Parts: sequence; structure tokens; C-alpha cells
Amino acid sequence: MTKTIAINAGSSSLKWQLYQMPEETVLAKGLIERIGLKDSISTVKFDGRAEKQVLDIENHTQAVKILLDDLIRFNIIASYDEITGVGHRVVAGGEYFKESALVDEEVLQKVEELSLLAPLHNPANAAGIRAFKELLPDITSVVVFDTSFHTTMPEKAYRYPLPTKYYTENKVRKYGAHGTSHEYVAHEAAKLLGKPIEELKLITCHIGNGASITAVDKGISVDTSMGFTPLGGVMMGTRSGDIDPAIIAYLMEHTDDFKTPEDISRILNRESGLLGVSEFSSDMRDIHEAMRNGNDKALLANDIFVDRIKKYIGQYFAVLNGADAIIFTAGIGENSKTIRGQVINGMTWFGCDVDPEKNVFGAEGDISTPDAKVRVLVIPTDEELVIARDVERLKNKQ
Ligand code: ADP
Repeated sequence: MTKTIAINAGSSSLKWQLYQMPEETVLAKGLIERIGLKDSISTVKFDGRAEKQVLDIENHTQAVKILLDDLIRFNIIASYDEITGVGHRVVAGGEYFKESALVDEEVLQKVEELSLLAPLHNPANAAGIRAFKELLPDITSVVVFDTSFHTTMPEKAYRYPLPTKYYTENKVRKYGAHGTSHEYVAHEAAKLLGKPIEELKLITCHIGNGASITAVDKGISVDTSMGFTPLGGVMMGTRSGDIDPAIIAYLMEHTDDFKTPEDISRILNRESGLLGVSEFSSDMRDIHEAMRNGNDKALLANDIFVDRIKKYIGQYFAVLNGADAIIFTAGIGENSKTIRGQVINGMTWFGCDVDPEKNVFGAEGDISTPDAKVRVLVIPTDEELVIARDVERLKNKQ
């Protein structure tokens, strides 16, 4: 019996989940926000309780110390020794990390070097890793990459039609993201369909604030909608997804908004998507409420959102030469019957048909009509569990 903690560190936040392994029971979970700012907030959830405290947390090491002390304070663990493993989510693994890895100094340096590909994320992930190394130096420490699952994509899918030197010298290619989620739901789908994953063609739709669609052939990612960064692909909460690249040069020339690389990055990553089109919210629940009240901008934001997902699914039907199932997961995919219904609506030619009686709030599993050739599944994702499982797997290899 061991306890393993899954960590998702952002630049000013640290999300965590503590598991009893190998039972995979969640003992507690929490979030530390506003690290490095005044009035940081630490929330711990366990036994149906949520304990919140506001205090100043200067850095990630201090955040980890507070989290560990909270575990003791709330009697979730009796001492630090009970935690035998930690798994860290890392956003960019580049071409280097094809799978999860045990952390040593070389691995940690590589994660830091890969900050070039994820400047907002990898430095924070590395800070989380260093914090645990400092406080719990002897436990098994593992890094799990968002990109690993997609390293199986063929070159024709991951290369951009740009001058070759930008790939060879600058490593510009498609890396994708949400890999742990796509992999997890693909395997859960195989269980649900009662078939070996090696016999299945799946289209997995992770649709939350960030959204990506993946074509999974025999359990392997063969294409995914996110690109060099998580900005590419479908429309998202605040991200544009794919746009004609010429728009950027045009707006640089003809407006005052696009002056610097930071402007471009901010506008496309933080001010676009549902927020940009609706002009009031990046949150799908707000968009749907406004739609019900007759707000035209919300309706348009919803319609573009659905249209983009539909088109990627269409592409992946072509890439895979058909599919056995389409899987919906993450905040919107799991909870919004409206989005699921609208995406699948009108795809009967492809063999998809959602049963409105099954496509309800809280639905899980198969929501298709009995005769549909392509099953439509709702499967809650669990990225933290994938991380905890990888820690156990690699611990046993040590
Ligand atoms: P993140 O990418 O930040 O992990 P989530 O997977 O939590 O995001 O998804 C957040 C999104 O899910 C938000 O747009 C939220 O509005 C949406 N969402 C959650 N519940 C519902 C619901 N019942 N109907 C529509 N959208 C929902």
C-alpha cells in the first residue's frame, strides 16, 4: 500500500491529487492559487470537506511545503514517509520524451531546455519538480508529458509545409497536447466497446477550455488538432485555433494592436475563441445561457465552435478511413448535451446518430441509437490517474 501524488504545476498555481495505490482511491485533492502573489489560496478537499486558507506563498517550494503540512494537519497522512511517489505533468516533451520518465538531473535539465517550446508551462512544471526534490528527495519522481502520446504521428502529419530549416533548426513541427487524456479515453472506449484497442479506429474529442481532437488508430495517435503549441486546431475558450496565417501580417500592417510577438500571442491565446466572438465570456455555460436569452453573438460563438469540431472529425474520418467510435470528454465534452448533439447532428451519412434520450446531462457511456454504425461515447477523462499509474509502473521498474 503506497500513496502517490499527481502534480500539475502552473506558473502561479499547483493542482494536486493524492492516491492510495494500487487501489487508485483518491484520498484528497487540492489547488494552490496565486503563488508568488499576495493572498495565495490553498484549498484541500477530502472526505466531502473543502478546507480553504488564504496566506502569502512565495514560491513553489513553499507551496509544496504547505500542501504536505496540510496533509498531516488534516490527518490524511501521519508523516511525509507515507508518500512514496510523485508524478508531474509536463506540457512539452518535444521529440525527446516519447514516454514518461523517472526524474534525474539530466531529465530535469531537458524539461527546462524544452521551455523553448512551452515558455509559459515548462518552467513552472520544472519548479514543481524541484520543489518536491528538495522536500522529498528520496521518493520516486516521474514526469508525464502531454505530448508523448502524439510522438507516434507520421511525419506527413507532424511536419508543416514550411522551409525545412525551420523544422531542422528551430524544431517547428506539430507536437499536439492533452495526450494523457486522449490515451486514457481511447483505452476506456476499447473496454466499453468490448474490443481490443488494436482493432479500433477512434476519434477522441477533448473539449474543455482548451480543446483538441485526435485520430487514434489501433491505440496510436496518428494525427491531432493542436499543433506546434496548444493554440492550433479547433476554436477554444480564449484561443482562436486555426486561422489563415496571412491574417497576422495583415493586422500588423493595418491596426495598432499587433505590434510585438507578445501582442500576437496574447490576442490569439487569451482574447480570441468564444470570448473573442461573444465579446463577453470564454465559458460555455455563459454562452449557452446567453443563447437561451436570444444573444446573437453567443449563438454565433457556439455555431463556429461546433462547426470547427465537426470539420476536424470529418478530417479524421478521412485520415482513418472510417471510425468505430467518437469519444467526448473534458468539461464541455462530458457535460454539454447541446454541443455533443450539434456536433453529431447531420453526420448520419458517416454512420453517426445520437439518441436524444441518451444524450442528456450526466450521460456516460454510449449515447448512440442502436443502429448507428459509429458509436458516440461520453467518457470522463482522468489525467491525474494516468499520472499516478505511470508513477507506479516506473517505480516497479526502478
Ligand atoms: P480546462 O481545459 O480548463 O481543464 P475543463 O475541461 O474544466 O477546462 O472545461 C471547462 C469548460 O467546460 C468551460 O467552458 C465550462 O463552461 C464547460 N462546462 C462545464 N459544465 C458545462 C455544462 N453543463 N454545459 C456546458 N459547458 C460546461
